[in-house]
Amino acid sequence: METFNKMAKDMDKIIERLIEGNHRFSKGEALRANISVSRRNQVADSQNPFATVFGCADSRVPPEIIFDCGLGDLFVIRTAGHTMDNAVIETIKFGVQSLNIPLVIVLGHTNCGALLKAIESQTKEGSISWIVEQIIPAIEPCREATELLNCVVKEHIRRTTSQLQNILAPLSKKVIILGACYDLHTGLLEILEA
Ligand SMILES: [Zn+2]
Repeated sequence: METFNKMAKDMDKIIERLIEGNHRFSKGEALRANISVSRRNQVADSQNPFATVFGCADSRVPPEIIFDCGLGDLFVIRTAGHTMDNAVIETIKFGVQSLNIPLVIVLGHTNCGALLKAIESQTKEGSISWIVEQIIPAIEPCREATELLNCVVKEHIRRTTSQLQNILAPLSKKVIILGACYDLHTGLLEILEA
């Protein structure tokens, strides 16, 4: 029980650190911590990142910047619309198994171009890319939504989070997977309920 409590406490601290960093960034008060020469030297020989971020490749959503983090803090994987292939899965597993990273954040964002493409593919003729194919299942539950793109963004984050939960659960009982949606306008994150 004690170990579990300690784990939960550490997890609270990690999430708090990320949320506080994001608040500083959103207000234009980023500390730009851990990007100094001394930090670079400190982590040159080994890394001990405290969170994995699997996010969209969008140029406006760079994890180290929006969480106000620096070198050695985050283990980052990014693809268009955070779509998962084997390379992504193996990389996230490496983070859990070899680097003992306790938290994985699936980071989607508002106005995601990859998701918009998937929505458009429903009414357009022509071939569909592999990436779009991975996103399409998130559209169906949103058919009645008033803001279709916004609904698909959140649905796709939830789906990715749940797929990762299934993949990582047999590897580690400790790892926590959270879905988060980043707002391009406010610069703030919304943590999504599972
Ligand atoms: Zn995107």
